Amino acid sequence: MNILVANLGSTSFKFRLIRFDGAGGASVLAKGGYERVTDYGRAIDDCLGELQAAGHVTTTADLHGVGFKTVLGKNLTGCLRADTDDRVIAALDGFKEIAPAHNPPYALGIARFREKLPGVPLVALFETAFYQWVPEAATRYAVPQSWYDAGVRRYGFHGASHKFVAERSAELLGRADIAERVRQLYRAGATPVPAGAAPLRIISCHLGGSSSVTGIRDGVAIGTSMGLSPQSGLPQNNRVGDLDSAAVPFVMKTLGLSLAEAERQMTKESGLLGLSGVGNDLRDVRAAAQQGNARAQLALDVFVQSARHWIGAFLLELNGLDALVFTAGIGENNPDLRAAICARLDQLGLVIDPAKNAALRGTEGEISAANSRAKIFVIPANEELVVARETARCIAAQS
Ligand code: ADP
Repeated sequence: MNILVANLGSTSFKFRLIRFDGAGGASVLAKGGYERVTDYGRAIDDCLGELQAAGHVTTTADLHGVGFKTVLGKNLTGCLRADTDDRVIAALDGFKEIAPAHNPPYALGIARFREKLPGVPLVALFETAFYQWVPEAATRYAVPQSWYDAGVRRYGFHGASHKFVAERSAELLGRADIAERVRQLYRAGATPVPAGAAPLRIISCHLGGSSSVTGIRDGVAIGTSMGLSPQSGLPQNNRVGDLDSAAVPFVMKTLGLSLAEAERQMTKESGLLGLSGVGNDLRDVRAAAQQGNARAQLALDVFVQSARHWIGAFLLELNGLDALVFTAGIGENNPDLRAAICARLDQLGLVIDPAKNAALRGTEGEISAANSRAKIFVIPANEELVVARETARCIAAQS
């Protein structure tokens, strides 16, 4: 079974073709992408042309489905058919104001795929899907009812990434029962199957271009650092993260910013970039900090402080921890940041092994010390695999 995973950005189109063999194994047959995309229809043609030329997909009959990691839908989440269910595009349109960089490209891209590939199943896996079972008290802001009715609540994002961590960390801890529970999560209408007696408590840190920390009990998310939009939580590359709601009216009044300009600055000139004044890539910020740039060092310190803040929140909520996991570009590749995040937690049962930590970059492994009660793992992100698997499962369930 060949599944194409389409990653649609506001000006980019990236793809990965994943083949599942009958025994459940998955291999990446091809990956590629285009920048400065102005016409998704053409990008789709180019992508299919590439896959044809490489001999992977001769006709659309060789393409068994296309999966999309859609971000946020109004009154809609989970894993759904996007070719036959018009609610997907409508839900993306309904929340385009909350996720302006993500929702319009997916709504447009899915519409183009429907035109270009009639008959090929399209599946949307919402990034919010992993948070369907978060307790209501952890999803609500203290806003008037009319705001809540309009959709103002915590949703959570990076669901595919944290789901992969939930499954893989359970495997690494010898909990095949929980790994299977995670695999079963998005069956239509499913509530999670009952978990075994021994709890499994994971905190997953997706630290990358955008970052979030998620608490996971028995494979199911109990809360996350991102809220209404992917803007919130930790400082992002150039996006603000958590901010007191009084800040926006204050800068509008005192700095004379329009709402549009305040929004632009919060989404383009904030985060690591705003704090450091150096750049939005952690590598550049780190290099500047190492050369003595105090603002760059402060940006790193704020990032670490914020990650610890959220880890602390879930450590309490989970009443302990079995594993802390680092994933995504920053989490996988920056031992010094991991060490700073894990510093002085020995009384809470978390001790990092400096040598193991320093040696591990971009690959899976354990970096906790022998005397650490909880494990500390690095698990490389594999969101595309999650999207491809759920796409295959959704198609099989409906055929
Ligand atoms: P995105 O969230 O956009 O998918 P990534 O998960 O790749 O991005 O994370 C991007 C961040 O990860 C950047 O800040 C970058 O500095 C950092 N990063 C990626 N690769 C490396 C690396 N090899 N060494 C250090 N940092 C890295």
